[in-house]
Amino acid sequence: MSDYIIRGMAADNQVRFFAATTKDLTETARSIHNTSPVATAALGRLLTAAVMMGAQCKNDTDILTLQIQCNGPIGGIICTADAKCRVKGYVNNPNVILPANEKGKLDVAKALDLGVLSVIKDIGLKEPYVGQTQLVSGEIAEDLTYYFATSEQIPTSVALGVLMEKNNTVKQAGGFIIQLMPFASEEIISTLEERLNSFSSITAPLDKGMTPLDIIKQIFEGYDVNVTDEIPATWYCNCSRERYHKALMSLGPKTLSDIISDGEPIEVNCQFCNSHYIFTPDELENNI
Ligand code: ZN
Repeated sequence: MSDYIIRGMAADNQVRFFAATTKDLTETARSIHNTSPVATAALGRLLTAAVMMGAQCKNDTDILTLQIQCNGPIGGIICTADAKCRVKGYVNNPNVILPANEKGKLDVAKALDLGVLSVIKDIGLKEPYVGQTQLVSGEIAEDLTYYFATSEQIPTSVALGVLMEKNNTVKQAGGFIIQLMPFASEEIISTLEERLNSFSSITAPLDKGMTPLDIIKQIFEGYDVNVTDEIPATWYCNCSRERYHKALMSLGPKTLSDIISDGEPIEVNCQFCNSHYIFTPDELENNI
């Protein structure tokens, strides 16, 4: 497994950064959900963002979810990550096919169209924290930049990308999140603005063999860069037979006996990883 994220501080602690390479987990998502190229790009971008934002969770049990509900043909995307950089996700319509946009790129914006981005942080309290913003471009990176600016008041630059092979498997995937600390100087702000404006693709340098750290060092050329963590990032679904059994049990005796009254086995599918779990009426009946 070669996916990982780095995080750290740069330019005298004036800037915080996360950077990730996520090719393997994006390819795993693609093969599980059999996503079309544009759906793979959209899912891979959101998975990459989730894995970097999940790394900000303070406790091992905290869960970060990024959800996009939208009018475009993809219908919606949901990705969930934890503090250990384990991530899972799916799109509502994995088969969406669209012509390339005017730049010749996969048209993620058109696949999403208008919609809402929700950032849900479940830190074990009664209610999770939910921040919501409208999609501003549907390209996901810009939408997250807008979320950070309006919902968290943190000036942020987000880059996310997925590059496909000719055979529609994933060639490269990755991203970064760069955030200004409140005391960042005008000098570093304008330098970064200039450099990030001319930064066009995260997958191009990855494809040239550059690491996430190489890319961060290039952006911060002339400044110090301190990596505090390097964490392996993986595709992971925490579903299990026991979990689904418990979920069925929680439906209550009345609903449960209705479900099993026809004597047929019950099949439950995990939307995140496509695992199928089959329960016989006997298995459920014994628990009523
Ligand atoms: Zn699952």
